Amino acid sequence: MIKYKIYNLIEMFETNTYLVWDTESLDAILIDPAAPSENLKSDIINLNLNLIHIFNTHGHGDHIGGNEYFHQAFNCPIGIHNFDAEMLLNSTMNLSDFMYSPIISPAASLLLKDFYDFSLGENKVEMFHTPGHTKGGIVIYIKPYLFSGDTIFNLSVGRTDLPGGNSKELIESIRKKVFSLPDDTIILPGHGPASTIAKEKKENPFV
Ligand SMILES: [Zn+2]
Ligand SMILES: [Zn+2]
Repeated sequence: MIKYKIYNLIEMFETNTYLVWDTESLDAILIDPAAPSENLKSDIINLNLNLIHIFNTHGHGDHIGGNEYFHQAFNCPIGIHNFDAEMLLNSTMNLSDFMYSPIISPAASLLLKDFYDFSLGENKVEMFHTPGHTKGGIVIYIKPYLFSGDTIFNLSVGRTDLPGGNSKELIESIRKKVFSLPDDTIILPGHGPASTIAKEKKENPFV
């Protein structure tokens, strides 16, 4: 069974960081570690989890600030889409220069392309490239959950006015990829409260 816990590690941006694990194998992934956190580190240790991967849904500073800390603490690799990989290493490109303090992440060792999947215990994890908020945005589907990063939010969508953003691409990503998932999928976005595919199909004013 898949379980997850949400952490809000940067108050200013209210980025949702997700710790996701399989209750049988105790294999875990960390999605968008926004900042270092002793509390989150203790949870991983106390739950006896085996952190196998860090994934960034995209390269913005508010989603990658904990990469170095958790990468070092658990010696686990970082995965991001190929098109956003350079943002990890450049605080101007990842916009952290304009946020609070410049962030440089270790380089990713897993570069995602159009689609990537693997198993977390008995659960299938599928990642889809959903450009539009950034060039290399991805969403992560682990039935019944969709970790949607800044691609789609509860009744909203990601900004497209930042470098690499494209509103036409974003809407296409949502219509073709996000909305192809089952209606009862629970959307867990990069900011704000959860939603479902059914609700967003019906009520999202941007799509
Ligand atoms: Zn973003
Ligand atoms: Zn964000």
